[in-house]
Amino acid sequence: MEYKVSDEIKKTYLSLSAQDDVQKALQFAEEDEKNDIDQLIEMTLIEAPTFHEHKRAQYMAARFTELGLENVTIDKNLVVYGTRKGTGGGPTVVVDGHMDTVFPEGTVKEVKREGDYLYAPGVGDDTAALAMELGMLRALNAAGVRTKGDLIFTATPREEGIGMLGGMRDFMNDHHEEVDCLVAIDGGRMNGITYQATGMRTVEVTFRGRDGHAAGMFGKISNSLNAAARAVAKIAELRVPEDPWTIFCVSNFHAGNDAGIHAIAGTTVIKYNIRSNSEEELARLDDEIARCIQEACDEEQARWGKDAISWERKYLATAPAGSGDINGNLCQAMYHLCEQYDTEPAFGNGGCTNASYGIAHGIPSICIGRQFVPRGMNIGSTAHQLNENMYIKDYYKCVQMGMLIALMMTGTPETPSAL
Ligand SMILES: [Zn+2]
Repeated sequence: MEYKVSDEIKKTYLSLSAQDDVQKALQFAEEDEKNDIDQLIEMTLIEAPTFHEHKRAQYMAARFTELGLENVTIDKNLVVYGTRKGTGGGPTVVVDGHMDTVFPEGTVKEVKREGDYLYAPGVGDDTAALAMELGMLRALNAAGVRTKGDLIFTATPREEGIGMLGGMRDFMNDHHEEVDCLVAIDGGRMNGITYQATGMRTVEVTFRGRDGHAAGMFGKISNSLNAAARAVAKIAELRVPEDPWTIFCVSNFHAGNDAGIHAIAGTTVIKYNIRSNSEEELARLDDEIARCIQEACDEEQARWGKDAISWERKYLATAPAGSGDINGNLCQAMYHLCEQYDTEPAFGNGGCTNASYGIAHGIPSICIGRQFVPRGMNIGSTAHQLNENMYIKDYYKCVQMGMLIALMMTGTPETPSAL
């Protein structure tokens, strides 16, 4: 199906890119690329495992302050943010990168450069977004670009793993009423556009029965491990729709120990992860799993005629599901921008990104990438791997595109907002 970009969006882009100050900013961004890369390398060496982002937060706050943002804050949740004030009367736009990486402290020894690639754990995800934010600010400042709406730059903690978008969740809890648009930068390719929120639940289930000797208590008690295994077998048979995209995975199973190698396990713990682009589907699946677990416990009790196995569920992490408007002005603007830069625009199917918490609050939100991949070229993803790389050729175009999408949304005194 042909994707339509409205004349209004095209006009906004034309008007904006014809502005003298914007042209100057674009030019500056191109010439400033070496500084982006140097800063990216510097930041990569400031390690920031999820829940341990303090050093990077200090660094970002200092840079935001140097670059003239107002009210630079490291808040109680370790979210770093500051505002580049607009002239007034335009939408407030948040540009975000997350500070945390998936690697434990001590993983990053150096950043290697080979050809058009940098190599280091975390060099792309999502350190390159932070470098883009700083590059955008330098360019906007150097050219004296004024916006109508405020631009809020954020550097958020706890995006990855069990952090589960926690920094942006907290920021949006506190600030969603002030925010009109969110552009999160956290994808591989600049031209990959995430406009949906894949909901996610990571759940721990504890089955509790009685401990007992394998032989001495045989036939006298139920076994929590049996109940959990029955539950997992039932869960494995569940069916989920392809659309809305939904998945489930039992990812952990712990029971017994070597000391009790000849014992009936009193406690068994399983963990599962479920995801869906629909909140209803996610809830339905979670209910189905609960039904499987209850049936499994009932069957285990019926088998032995003894002891109920009880179970409890603990949510380790959750993220909301939802969808932005693929035909909305923000998506259209980003699509158009990709075409102008001759990089193939591609809307992703779902995504668990910081944009999810904008979408959850009904705010036009997308997540875009941080590597410039021209039409016809393909690069694989190495995010979350020790050999993570970052394609840095024409990185300045990422800075330019990040700046342009933000300006199209805030508007300028000469060019009205396209939001
Ligand atoms: Zn990321």
